Amino acid sequence: MLMIEFKTKVLTTTIMDPRDNFNRKEIETEIRFDPLTGESSRLAHFGMIKPQKEDFSSWDTPENHSRCPFCPPNIEKITPRFPPEHLPEGRLHRGETTLLPNIAPYDQFSALAVMSRDHVVPLEKLSPRLLKDAFEAGLEFFRIIAAKKYQLPYYAIMWNYMPPSGGGIVHPHQQPIISDAPGNLFRKALENSRRYYQAHRQSYWKEICRVEKEKGQRFIGELERSCWLISFAPLGVMGEFLGIFPDVHTIFDVDETVVDELVSGLERLFSYFLSLNIYSFNMGLFFAPAGTEQYFSLHLRLIPRLYLNLVHRPSDINAVQMILQEPFAVVYPEKQCAELRSFW
Ligand SMILES: [Zn+2]
Repeated sequence: MLMIEFKTKVLTTTIMDPRDNFNRKEIETEIRFDPLTGESSRLAHFGMIKPQKEDFSSWDTPENHSRCPFCPPNIEKITPRFPPEHLPEGRLHRGETTLLPNIAPYDQFSALAVMSRDHVVPLEKLSPRLLKDAFEAGLEFFRIIAAKKYQLPYYAIMWNYMPPSGGGIVHPHQQPIISDAPGNLFRKALENSRRYYQAHRQSYWKEICRVEKEKGQRFIGELERSCWLISFAPLGVMGEFLGIFPDVHTIFDVDETVVDELVSGLERLFSYFLSLNIYSFNMGLFFAPAGTEQYFSLHLRLIPRLYLNLVHRPSDINAVQMILQEPFAVVYPEKQCAELRSFW
């Protein structure tokens, strides 16, 4: 019995096509349902969205550096410090990363891991060293706060990279958060993972890796402890990428080898993105809360973001996603996966 269901529904609409002498043309839209959450997403609006190459030089000027809170020497002078009961040193340093509290927090513990001394770090310069130091600073912060037993079960590292992602500051910074309120997607993933385990006595995360590998259509590749997939029902217009560590769970399970693998997977995705002029994304790295190890695994979601054009820089999020709460992708995950494999 196939326990994971890949459910789809195809809709057809007809237009009289001006590109073909106003002859009748049928256009298909596919609705897909996420195999974990059951939520719908569509494959639609084909041929209308293409990432554009951006020129970063106007962002990387002395004037912009002097206005940026994360550029040296501003970072030392004008960013906040943690109170001594949270972090006696006030801020945490690892390599080029400085971890500090968000002056405009989203949560009980809302940190920023400023990843570099440089203000603009395009994808090709996001080196394994910068990525590793940022993740490790976030993890060190998590462990320090976890030791204080605040009863906050949810840990995640968020990242809005470059302006199309909604990142207000170009200077790269991840956002490690610790909370007792996981947010909708994390909560739905947890609840449905628990339900799946109760029904099938199997971890959904192990199963999705096994099933996708067997099917091969959305299976990008694997590393020693992780499996990398493209989501069946993507959350972003240019798809959604998953890095799953089936046997790694809480913040205490993540050792240096896991971080290295995470970085290695990301570097491979980045080469693919560069080939398509994708230079921005949203990322979430979700850790299993204590007690959920049987059914929840460490995983990363990465959603490329883009401006629809560089004239007015319209966002790739519109009323369909915001008001209908219906994500759509303009690419087929299976086609993307075939292209991506050569970068793996
Ligand atoms: Zn800066």
